[in-house]
Amino acid sequence: MMCAAQAGQRGRRVLLIEHYHKLGEKIRISGGGRCNFTNLHCTPENFLSQNPHFCRSALARYTPRHFIALVERHHIAYHEKTLGQLFCDGSAQQIIDMLKNECDRGGVEWRMPCEVHEIAREGDRFAVTTDEGAYRTQSLVVATGGLSVPKIGASPFGYRLAEQFGLKVVVPRPGLVPLSFDPATLARFGNLSGIAIDAEVSCNGGRFRENLLLTHRGLSGPAILQISSYWRSGDSIEIDLLPGRDAEAWLLSEHSSRMQLDSLLAQALPRRFAQKWCAAHDSIKPINQFSESALKTLAHGLHHWRVQPSGTLGYNRAEVTLGGVDTDGLSSKTMEAKTVAGLFFVGEVLDVTGHLGGFNFQWAWASGHAAGQAA
Ligand SMILES: Cc1cc2nc3c(=O)[nH]c(=O)nc-3n(C[C@H](O)[C@H](O)[C@H](O)COP(=O)(O)OP(=O)(O)OC[C@H]3O[C@@H](n4cnc5c(N)ncnc54)[C@H](O)[C@@H]3O)c2cc1C
Repeated sequence: MMCAAQAGQRGRRVLLIEHYHKLGEKIRISGGGRCNFTNLHCTPENFLSQNPHFCRSALARYTPRHFIALVERHHIAYHEKTLGQLFCDGSAQQIIDMLKNECDRGGVEWRMPCEVHEIAREGDRFAVTTDEGAYRTQSLVVATGGLSVPKIGASPFGYRLAEQFGLKVVVPRPGLVPLSFDPATLARFGNLSGIAIDAEVSCNGGRFRENLLLTHRGLSGPAILQISSYWRSGDSIEIDLLPGRDAEAWLLSEHSSRMQLDSLLAQALPRRFAQKWCAAHDSIKPINQFSESALKTLAHGLHHWRVQPSGTLGYNRAEVTLGGVDTDGLSSKTMEAKTVAGLFFVGEVLDVTGHLGGFNFQWAWASGHAAGQAA
Protein backbone atom coordinates (compact mmCIF):
# COMPACT_ATOMS: atom_id res chain seq x y z
CA MET A 1 0.00 0.00 0.00
CA MET A 2 2.87 2.38 0.78
CA CYS A 3 4.47 1.64 -2.59
CA ALA A 4 1.16 1.84 -4.47
CA ALA A 5 0.31 5.19 -2.87
CA GLN A 6 3.74 6.66 -3.72
CA ALA A 7 3.66 5.42 -7.32
CA GLY A 8 0.06 6.59 -7.78
CA GLN A 9 0.80 10.03 -6.35
CA ARG A 10 3.71 10.27 -8.82
CA GLY A 11 1.18 9.87 -11.60
CA ARG A 12 1.61 6.15 -12.32
CA ARG A 13 -1.48 4.02 -13.02
CA VAL A 14 -1.48 1.47 -10.23
CA LEU A 15 -3.44 -1.74 -9.71
CA LEU A 16 -3.10 -3.42 -6.31
CA ILE A 17 -3.93 -7.13 -6.21
CA GLU A 18 -4.63 -8.78 -2.83
CA HIS A 19 -5.70 -12.43 -2.60
CA TYR A 20 -7.08 -12.26 0.95
CA HIS A 21 -10.57 -10.84 1.47
CA LYS A 22 -9.37 -8.15 3.90
CA LEU A 23 -6.91 -5.32 3.55
CA GLY A 24 -3.74 -4.97 5.65
CA GLU A 25 -4.69 -7.83 7.97
CA LYS A 26 -1.15 -8.07 9.42
CA ILE A 27 -1.38 -4.41 10.37
CA ARG A 28 -4.74 -4.99 12.03
CA ILE A 29 -3.43 -7.77 14.29
CA SER A 30 -0.09 -6.10 14.98
CA GLY A 31 1.06 -4.64 18.27
CA GLY A 32 -1.84 -6.22 20.15
CA GLY A 33 -4.31 -4.36 17.88
CA ARG A 34 -2.58 -0.98 18.28
CA CYS A 35 0.17 -1.43 15.62
CA ASN A 36 3.71 -0.66 16.72
CA PHE A 37 4.14 1.28 13.47
CA THR A 38 7.74 2.43 13.82
CA ASN A 39 10.63 2.87 16.22
CA LEU A 40 12.27 6.20 17.02
CA HIS A 41 15.69 4.54 17.29
CA CYS A 42 15.63 2.68 13.99
CA THR A 43 19.11 2.00 12.55
CA PRO A 44 20.43 -0.57 10.04
CA GLU A 45 21.80 -2.49 13.05
CA ASN A 46 18.22 -3.40 13.95
CA PHE A 47 17.97 -5.67 10.90
CA LEU A 48 19.19 -9.16 10.04
CA SER A 49 20.14 -10.03 6.48
CA GLN A 50 22.88 -11.87 4.61
CA ASN A 51 23.85 -8.39 3.42
CA PRO A 52 23.46 -6.15 6.48
CA HIS A 53 24.20 -3.04 4.36
CA PHE A 54 21.34 -3.53 1.90
CA CYS A 55 18.73 -1.81 4.07
CA ARG A 56 20.81 1.36 4.64
CA SER A 57 19.83 3.40 1.62
CA ALA A 58 16.05 2.93 1.85
CA LEU A 59 16.01 3.42 5.63
CA ALA A 60 18.02 6.65 5.28
CA ARG A 61 15.67 8.05 2.66
CA TYR A 62 12.44 7.18 4.48
CA THR A 63 12.91 7.49 8.22
CA PRO A 64 10.60 7.06 11.21
CA ARG A 65 10.21 10.89 11.12
CA HIS A 66 8.68 10.66 7.64
CA PHE A 67 6.16 8.06 8.74
CA ILE A 68 5.36 9.98 11.93
CA ALA A 69 4.72 13.08 9.81
CA LEU A 70 2.26 11.04 7.71
CA VAL A 71 0.54 9.72 10.85
CA GLU A 72 0.24 13.27 12.20
CA ARG A 73 -1.14 14.60 8.88
CA HIS A 74 -3.90 12.00 9.29
CA HIS A 75 -4.54 13.14 12.90
CA ILE A 76 -3.79 9.70 14.35
CA ALA A 77 -2.94 9.95 18.04
CA TYR A 78 0.02 7.84 19.14
CA HIS A 79 2.34 7.27 22.08
CA GLU A 80 5.77 5.84 22.84
CA LYS A 81 5.33 2.68 24.86
CA THR A 82 8.94 1.79 25.62
CA LEU A 83 12.36 1.73 23.89
CA GLY A 84 11.23 4.11 21.12
CA GLN A 85 8.29 1.92 20.09
CA LEU A 86 5.38 4.01 18.74
CA PHE A 87 1.81 2.69 18.96
CA CYS A 88 -1.59 4.11 17.98
CA ASP A 89 -3.59 5.36 20.96
CA GLY A 90 -6.70 4.05 19.23
CA SER A 91 -6.47 1.09 16.88
CA ALA A 92 -4.29 -0.37 14.14
CA GLN A 93 -7.24 0.10 11.77
CA GLN A 94 -6.33 3.81 11.69
CA ILE A 95 -3.01 2.93 9.98
CA ILE A 96 -4.83 0.74 7.42
CA ASP A 97 -7.34 3.55 6.76
CA MET A 98 -4.50 6.05 6.40
CA LEU A 99 -2.69 3.92 3.82
CA LYS A 100 -5.95 3.27 1.95
CA ASN A 101 -6.61 6.99 1.95
CA GLU A 102 -3.12 7.69 0.55
CA CYS A 103 -3.76 5.07 -2.15
CA ASP A 104 -7.06 6.78 -3.00
CA ARG A 105 -5.16 10.08 -3.35
CA GLY A 106 -2.93 8.34 -5.89
CA GLY A 107 -5.93 6.88 -7.78
CA VAL A 108 -4.86 3.30 -6.96
CA GLU A 109 -7.30 0.65 -8.21
CA TRP A 110 -7.93 -2.62 -6.32
CA ARG A 111 -8.71 -6.22 -7.05
CA MET A 112 -9.55 -8.01 -3.79
CA PRO A 113 -9.91 -10.88 -3.19
CA CYS A 114 -8.12 -11.84 -6.39
CA GLU A 115 -5.81 -14.79 -7.15
CA VAL A 116 -2.78 -14.36 -9.40
CA HIS A 117 -2.42 -17.53 -11.46
CA GLU A 118 0.57 -16.77 -13.61
CA ILE A 119 3.12 -14.08 -14.38
CA ALA A 120 5.05 -14.20 -17.64
CA ARG A 121 7.50 -11.90 -19.37
CA GLU A 122 6.24 -10.51 -22.71
CA GLY A 123 8.88 -8.28 -24.26
CA ASP A 124 9.60 -5.52 -21.77
CA ARG A 125 6.29 -6.11 -19.94
CA PHE A 126 4.81 -8.59 -17.50
CA ALA A 127 1.60 -10.46 -18.32
CA VAL A 128 -0.33 -11.09 -15.11
CA THR A 129 -3.14 -13.65 -15.27
CA THR A 130 -5.63 -13.43 -12.41
CA ASP A 131 -9.09 -14.76 -11.69
CA GLU A 132 -10.39 -11.26 -12.45
CA GLY A 133 -8.75 -11.03 -15.86
CA ALA A 134 -5.35 -10.48 -17.47
CA TYR A 135 -3.17 -7.38 -17.14
CA ARG A 136 -0.01 -6.18 -18.83
CA THR A 137 2.40 -3.94 -16.93
CA GLN A 138 5.81 -2.35 -17.23
CA SER A 139 6.50 -2.49 -13.47
CA LEU A 140 5.60 -5.33 -11.15
CA VAL A 141 6.10 -4.85 -7.40
CA VAL A 142 5.93 -7.98 -5.25
CA ALA A 143 4.91 -7.22 -1.66
CA THR A 144 3.59 -10.61 -0.59
CA GLY A 145 5.27 -10.63 2.84
CA GLY A 146 6.63 -13.68 4.66
CA LEU A 147 5.19 -17.03 5.71
CA SER A 148 4.07 -16.16 9.25
CA VAL A 149 0.42 -16.56 10.21
CA PRO A 150 -0.69 -18.50 7.09
CA LYS A 151 -4.37 -18.29 8.07
CA ILE A 152 -4.50 -14.57 7.19
CA GLY A 153 -3.07 -14.76 3.69
CA ALA A 154 0.67 -15.49 3.93
CA SER A 155 2.00 -17.38 0.91
CA PRO A 156 5.36 -18.37 -0.66
CA PHE A 157 4.24 -16.70 -3.89
CA GLY A 158 6.97 -14.02 -3.80
CA TYR A 159 9.74 -16.58 -3.31
CA ARG A 160 8.48 -18.72 -6.20
CA LEU A 161 8.22 -15.67 -8.45
CA ALA A 162 11.77 -14.61 -7.58
CA GLU A 163 13.02 -18.09 -8.50
CA GLN A 164 10.99 -18.04 -11.71
CA PHE A 165 12.94 -14.94 -12.74
CA GLY A 166 16.32 -16.39 -11.74
CA LEU A 167 16.72 -14.65 -8.36
CA LYS A 168 18.01 -16.54 -5.34
CA VAL A 169 16.02 -17.04 -2.16
CA VAL A 170 17.65 -17.34 1.27
CA VAL A 171 15.89 -20.29 2.95
CA PRO A 172 13.02 -18.84 5.03
CA ARG A 173 12.58 -19.69 8.72
CA PRO A 174 10.34 -18.36 11.49
CA GLY A 175 11.62 -15.33 13.44
CA LEU A 176 10.39 -13.40 16.50
CA VAL A 177 8.87 -16.67 17.66
CA PRO A 178 8.54 -18.48 21.02
CA LEU A 179 11.00 -21.33 21.62
CA SER A 180 10.05 -24.79 22.86
CA PHE A 181 11.65 -27.01 25.51
CA ASP A 182 12.39 -30.73 25.16
CA PRO A 183 10.20 -33.00 27.36
CA ALA A 184 12.82 -33.26 30.17
CA THR A 185 13.25 -29.47 30.50
CA LEU A 186 9.50 -29.01 30.15
CA ALA A 187 8.98 -31.44 33.05
CA ARG A 188 11.25 -29.20 35.19
CA PHE A 189 10.07 -25.74 34.15
CA GLY A 190 6.82 -26.18 32.17
CA ASN A 191 4.54 -25.67 35.17
CA LEU A 192 6.01 -22.19 35.77
CA SER A 193 3.89 -20.87 32.89
CA GLY A 194 3.23 -17.13 33.26
CA ILE A 195 6.35 -16.29 35.27
CA ALA A 196 8.34 -13.35 33.85
CA ILE A 197 12.01 -12.61 34.54
CA ASP A 198 14.08 -9.55 33.62
CA ALA A 199 16.96 -11.32 31.86
CA GLU A 200 19.72 -10.81 29.32
CA VAL A 201 19.61 -13.44 26.63
CA SER A 202 22.32 -14.08 24.04
CA CYS A 203 22.98 -16.38 21.09
CA ASN A 204 25.12 -16.17 17.92
CA GLY A 205 26.08 -12.51 18.41
CA GLY A 206 22.59 -11.31 19.43
CA ARG A 207 22.10 -9.99 22.97
CA PHE A 208 18.90 -8.55 24.45
CA ARG A 209 17.87 -7.46 27.92
CA GLU A 210 14.11 -7.57 28.19
CA ASN A 211 11.52 -9.78 29.86
CA LEU A 212 11.65 -13.54 29.47
CA LEU A 213 8.40 -15.44 29.94
CA LEU A 214 8.06 -19.10 30.93
CA THR A 215 5.22 -20.80 29.05
CA HIS A 216 3.64 -24.26 29.07
CA ARG A 217 5.61 -25.04 25.85
CA GLY A 218 8.96 -23.40 26.69
CA LEU A 219 10.08 -19.76 26.57
CA SER A 220 8.59 -16.56 25.19
CA GLY A 221 8.49 -12.85 26.04
CA PRO A 222 10.34 -10.04 24.24
CA ALA A 223 13.88 -11.23 25.12
CA ILE A 224 13.17 -14.69 23.70
CA LEU A 225 11.33 -13.41 20.59
CA GLN A 226 14.34 -11.22 19.84
CA ILE A 227 16.91 -13.98 20.33
CA SER A 228 14.83 -16.49 18.33
CA SER A 229 15.87 -14.60 15.18
CA TYR A 230 19.51 -15.42 15.97
CA TRP A 231 18.92 -18.99 17.13
CA ARG A 232 19.43 -21.96 14.82
CA SER A 233 18.32 -25.53 15.41
CA GLY A 234 20.76 -27.31 17.75
CA ASP A 235 22.13 -24.09 19.29
CA SER A 236 21.96 -23.27 22.98
CA ILE A 237 20.92 -19.85 24.23
CA GLU A 238 22.60 -18.28 27.23
CA ILE A 239 20.49 -16.55 29.84
CA ASP A 240 21.83 -14.10 32.42
CA LEU A 241 19.24 -14.40 35.18
CA LEU A 242 20.78 -11.58 37.23
CA PRO A 243 21.89 -9.00 34.67
CA GLY A 244 23.81 -6.05 36.07
CA ARG A 245 24.35 -7.84 39.38
CA ASP A 246 27.47 -9.59 40.73
CA ALA A 247 26.03 -12.99 41.69
CA GLU A 248 29.37 -14.30 42.98
CA ALA A 249 29.90 -11.40 45.38
CA TRP A 250 26.27 -11.68 46.51
CA LEU A 251 26.35 -15.44 47.21
CA LEU A 252 29.76 -15.28 48.92
CA SER A 253 28.60 -12.40 51.13
CA GLU A 254 25.85 -14.76 52.41
CA HIS A 255 28.16 -17.78 52.82
CA SER A 256 27.67 -18.05 56.58
CA SER A 257 23.87 -17.91 56.28
CA ARG A 258 21.68 -20.86 57.21
CA MET A 259 19.05 -19.72 54.76
CA GLN A 260 18.19 -22.13 51.92
CA LEU A 261 19.80 -21.06 48.64
CA ASP A 262 16.43 -20.89 46.84
CA SER A 263 15.07 -18.53 49.53
CA LEU A 264 18.04 -16.22 49.00
CA LEU A 265 17.61 -16.32 45.21
CA ALA A 266 13.91 -15.56 45.67
CA GLN A 267 15.01 -12.06 46.78
CA ALA A 268 16.02 -11.40 43.16
CA LEU A 269 14.02 -13.95 41.13
CA PRO A 270 10.42 -15.19 41.24
CA ARG A 271 10.26 -17.64 44.17
CA ARG A 272 8.84 -20.63 42.25
CA PHE A 273 11.45 -20.20 39.56
CA ALA A 274 14.25 -19.96 42.15
CA GLN A 275 13.05 -23.25 43.66
CA LYS A 276 12.93 -25.07 40.32
CA TRP A 277 16.27 -23.65 39.21
CA CYS A 278 17.96 -24.77 42.44
CA ALA A 279 16.29 -28.20 42.20
CA ALA A 280 17.53 -28.56 38.60
CA HIS A 281 21.03 -27.75 39.87
CA ASP A 282 20.75 -30.10 42.84
CA SER A 283 21.18 -27.14 45.17
CA ILE A 284 18.29 -27.05 47.63
CA LYS A 285 20.17 -26.74 50.92
CA PRO A 286 21.36 -24.05 53.35
CA ILE A 287 23.96 -21.69 51.93
CA ASN A 288 26.51 -22.46 54.66
CA GLN A 289 26.61 -26.08 53.47
CA PHE A 290 28.02 -25.11 50.05
CA SER A 291 31.77 -24.85 49.50
CA GLU A 292 33.09 -21.52 48.25
CA SER A 293 33.87 -23.02 44.85
CA ALA A 294 30.36 -24.52 44.64
CA LEU A 295 28.89 -21.05 45.27
CA LYS A 296 31.16 -19.60 42.58
CA THR A 297 29.98 -22.28 40.12
CA LEU A 298 26.33 -21.53 40.96
CA ALA A 299 26.94 -17.79 40.55
CA HIS A 300 28.43 -18.47 37.14
CA GLY A 301 25.40 -20.61 36.30
CA LEU A 302 23.03 -17.78 37.25
CA HIS A 303 24.78 -15.44 34.81
CA HIS A 304 25.27 -18.09 32.12
CA TRP A 305 22.26 -20.42 32.30
CA ARG A 306 22.47 -22.46 29.09
CA VAL A 307 19.25 -23.76 27.64
CA GLN A 308 18.96 -25.76 24.45
CA PRO A 309 15.53 -25.15 22.91
CA SER A 310 14.11 -28.10 20.99
CA GLY A 311 12.60 -25.87 18.30
CA THR A 312 10.36 -22.89 17.63
CA LEU A 313 6.57 -22.73 17.70
CA GLY A 314 6.65 -22.27 13.92
CA TYR A 315 5.02 -19.91 11.44
CA ASN A 316 1.63 -19.92 13.21
CA ARG A 317 3.24 -18.11 16.14
CA ALA A 318 6.09 -16.25 14.38
CA GLU A 319 5.80 -12.50 13.90
CA VAL A 320 8.15 -12.53 10.94
CA THR A 321 9.99 -14.69 8.44
CA LEU A 322 13.77 -14.62 8.31
CA GLY A 323 15.41 -15.13 4.91
CA GLY A 324 13.54 -14.48 1.68
CA VAL A 325 14.49 -12.98 -1.67
CA ASP A 326 18.28 -12.60 -1.72
CA THR A 327 19.14 -8.90 -1.72
CA ASP A 328 22.27 -9.51 -3.84
CA GLY A 329 20.01 -9.64 -6.88
CA LEU A 330 18.38 -6.26 -6.18
CA SER A 331 19.22 -2.57 -6.25
CA SER A 332 19.26 -1.18 -2.71
CA LYS A 333 18.17 2.22 -4.08
CA THR A 334 15.03 1.07 -5.89
CA MET A 335 14.42 -2.58 -4.87
CA GLU A 336 14.43 -3.47 -8.58
CA ALA A 337 15.92 -6.78 -9.74
CA LYS A 338 19.32 -6.18 -11.34
CA THR A 339 18.67 -8.70 -14.08
CA VAL A 340 14.92 -8.16 -14.72
CA ALA A 341 13.97 -4.56 -15.51
CA GLY A 342 10.65 -3.60 -13.93
CA LEU A 343 10.53 -6.36 -11.30
CA PHE A 344 10.60 -5.05 -7.71
CA PHE A 345 10.41 -6.74 -4.28
CA VAL A 346 9.57 -4.83 -1.08
CA GLY A 347 8.91 -5.53 2.59
CA GLU A 348 9.18 -8.80 4.41
CA VAL A 349 9.41 -10.98 1.27
CA LEU A 350 13.03 -9.78 1.13
CA ASP A 351 15.89 -11.18 3.19
CA VAL A 352 15.69 -8.19 5.56
CA THR A 353 14.20 -8.86 9.00
CA GLY A 354 13.87 -6.37 11.81
CA HIS A 355 14.14 -6.77 15.54
CA LEU A 356 10.98 -6.66 17.62
CA GLY A 357 9.72 -3.12 18.24
CA GLY A 358 8.29 -1.49 15.08
CA PHE A 359 11.33 -2.13 12.85
CA ASN A 360 9.58 -4.53 10.50
CA PHE A 361 6.91 -1.99 9.62
CA GLN A 362 9.56 0.71 9.19
CA TRP A 363 11.26 -1.59 6.66
CA ALA A 364 7.95 -2.18 4.86
CA TRP A 365 7.35 1.60 4.66
CA ALA A 366 10.93 2.47 3.66
CA SER A 367 11.35 -0.24 1.02
CA GLY A 368 7.83 0.41 -0.30
CA HIS A 369 8.62 4.11 -0.55
CA ALA A 370 11.90 3.42 -2.39
CA ALA A 371 10.18 1.22 -4.98
CA GLY A 372 7.22 3.60 -5.19
CA GLN A 373 9.57 6.35 -6.37
CA ALA A 374 11.03 4.16 -9.13
CA ALA A 375 8.41 1.64 -10.30
C1 LIG B 1 0.97 -11.10 15.13
C2 LIG B 1 1.93 -10.13 14.46
C3 LIG B 1 2.19 -8.91 15.05
C4 LIG B 1 3.11 -8.02 14.46
N1 LIG B 1 3.32 -6.82 15.06
C5 LIG B 1 4.20 -5.97 14.51
C6 LIG B 1 4.39 -4.68 15.06
O1 LIG B 1 3.70 -4.28 16.01
N2 LIG B 1 5.35 -3.87 14.51
C7 LIG B 1 6.08 -4.27 13.42
O2 LIG B 1 6.93 -3.49 12.95
N3 LIG B 1 5.87 -5.45 12.83
C8 LIG B 1 4.94 -6.30 13.34
N4 LIG B 1 4.73 -7.50 12.73
C9 LIG B 1 5.44 -7.80 11.47
C10 LIG B 1 4.76 -7.01 10.31
O3 LIG B 1 3.37 -7.26 10.36
C11 LIG B 1 5.31 -7.43 8.96
O4 LIG B 1 6.71 -7.40 8.95
C12 LIG B 1 4.77 -6.50 7.88
O5 LIG B 1 3.35 -6.58 7.82
C13 LIG B 1 5.36 -6.85 6.52
O6 LIG B 1 4.74 -6.07 5.56
P1 LIG B 1 4.61 -6.59 4.06
O7 LIG B 1 3.79 -5.58 3.34
O8 LIG B 1 5.94 -6.92 3.52
O9 LIG B 1 3.82 -7.96 4.16
P2 LIG B 1 2.35 -8.26 4.74
O10 LIG B 1 1.90 -7.21 5.67
O11 LIG B 1 2.39 -9.68 5.19
O12 LIG B 1 1.45 -8.13 3.46
C14 LIG B 1 1.53 -9.05 2.41
C15 LIG B 1 0.19 -9.08 1.71
O13 LIG B 1 0.31 -9.85 0.52
C16 LIG B 1 -0.81 -10.68 0.41
N5 LIG B 1 -0.44 -11.85 -0.39
C17 LIG B 1 0.35 -12.88 -0.05
N6 LIG B 1 0.44 -13.74 -1.07
C18 LIG B 1 -0.32 -13.24 -2.07
C19 LIG B 1 -0.64 -13.70 -3.38
N7 LIG B 1 -0.16 -14.86 -3.86
N8 LIG B 1 -1.46 -12.94 -4.16
C20 LIG B 1 -1.96 -11.77 -3.66
N9 LIG B 1 -1.71 -11.29 -2.44
C21 LIG B 1 -0.89 -12.02 -1.65
C22 LIG B 1 -1.16 -11.06 1.84
O14 LIG B 1 -2.50 -11.47 1.95
C23 LIG B 1 -0.89 -9.76 2.56
O15 LIG B 1 -2.00 -8.91 2.61
C24 LIG B 1 3.78 -8.39 13.28
C25 LIG B 1 3.51 -9.61 12.66
C26 LIG B 1 2.59 -10.48 13.23
C27 LIG B 1 2.30 -11.80 12.55
